[in-house]
Amino acid sequence: MDYINRVYENLKQKYGYEPEFLQAVQEVLESIRPAVMANLEVYEKNKILERLTTPDRIISFRVPWVNDKGEVEVNMGYRVQWSSAIGPYKGGLRLHPSVNQSILKFLGFEQTFKNSLTGLPMGGGKGGSDFDPKGKSDREIMAFCQSFMTELYKYIGPNEDVPAGDIGVGGREIGYLYGQYKRITGRFEGVLTGKGLTYGGSLVRTEATGYGLLYITEALLNHHKDSIKGKTVVISGAGNVAIYACEKAQQLGAKVISVSDSNGYIYDKDGIDLALLKEVKEVKRARLTEYKKARPSAEYHEGKGVFKLKCDVALPCATQNELDINDAKALVANGCKVVCEGANMPTTLEATTYLKTNGVLFIPGKAANAGGVATSGLEMCQNSIRLSWTFAEVDAKLKDIMENIYSNMLRTCEKYNLGEDYVAGANICGFEKVVNAMISHGIC
Ligand code: NDP
Repeated sequence: MDYINRVYENLKQKYGYEPEFLQAVQEVLESIRPAVMANLEVYEKNKILERLTTPDRIISFRVPWVNDKGEVEVNMGYRVQWSSAIGPYKGGLRLHPSVNQSILKFLGFEQTFKNSLTGLPMGGGKGGSDFDPKGKSDREIMAFCQSFMTELYKYIGPNEDVPAGDIGVGGREIGYLYGQYKRITGRFEGVLTGKGLTYGGSLVRTEATGYGLLYITEALLNHHKDSIKGKTVVISGAGNVAIYACEKAQQLGAKVISVSDSNGYIYDKDGIDLALLKEVKEVKRARLTEYKKARPSAEYHEGKGVFKLKCDVALPCATQNELDINDAKALVANGCKVVCEGANMPTTLEATTYLKTNGVLFIPGKAANAGGVATSGLEMCQNSIRLSWTFAEVDAKLKDIMENIYSNMLRTCEKYNLGEDYVAGANICGFEKVVNAMISHGIC
């Protein structure tokens, strides 16, 4: 058995109960094979793959809080600090009932490569809790966030670990978390990103992941002497990433015909009404059925189904493994030419292979959604120099970073004769930088 297979089989034996983590590792290890083979002796001697697939540490803790009925509730909290080879740990916090160690390990592992791809000095981490924010009052969200931070603050800092938002964590939650950090430590510092604009946040951070997704999609299409203008686009999800992907796609002249949440999806033949979507999701925090009520041209369907709609470009922006083999087959059959992942690992391995072998241009989340963390890196930079850049300045830097990610992936594909396998291009590009730093640091 060769080095790569041996490492994967060992992980499978140890962590058979962590399917999402194993899935993420399998995808990376398979795709970086050419780069590993080119340096096999050094990597094997330094146990690079064993070290890279093992987090620096995992912190887990109890999060007790009191609900509006005066009852005590208890959740689990986690922070997975994966790698600090190229900078302080950096990655979001997810609040969702599905959160467990396997999901956070997959996210922390992936984040390490993504952060490396941005070109900014950020290591990889991820955290969160199985707390379900849905249906909770503002006071309950605050109580939870304060309790969560009362434990987490011991392990984070502007030069140690800088968490941000993810599913279930937006501006409101970051505000409560930041307030509690400041209260406990007495320090006003850039320990979280995604902060409000009045206390150290960066312009464009809210829009960054969705905008970045469209900048890289456009770079890909431009490389093919095409553009997103006039294309029909399917988007899944109706959260932060989906909303701003929709906004930028529309600004660039595309027609977005769908959004979804975990209950169902909207098909709007006239194109999504963005102002209405923001009103329903950002202001009222309501379900998509409210969108349908206010929009005669829209159809609402219960359950999954966005990827069965006919489109040129599909942007999965909800959650992991939402696009399966049947969706991939439907996309190909309906003539979809481009899939770029706004969410983390939304496409199953089987579906990814099917899309790639059927001529669909595919950019994985690590590259395609890196705009969020890249702008978080720009927020850290502004906090350090105690300055705030304008919207146009941050947006221009974000666009530049996404175009650079695209050209670096392309260059890596050329170097290893990978055609347009951007999964391998992204993984190898992120991997090489991290590994060079690991080797420079010695065995640690
Ligand atoms: P939000 O919480 O703002 O929105 C998530 C959206 O996805 C909601 O519409 C939600 O619907 C839907 N969703 C969540 N879980 C499921 C599920 N199990 N099945 C179907 N739909 C689901 O999160 P974000 O938009 O911030 O994040 C979306 C994805 O993008 C995640 O994979 C995240 O890790 C990734 N990402 C986010 C970044 C960011 O900057 N925000 C940066 C990089 C990646 P419902 O309301 O019904 O739960």
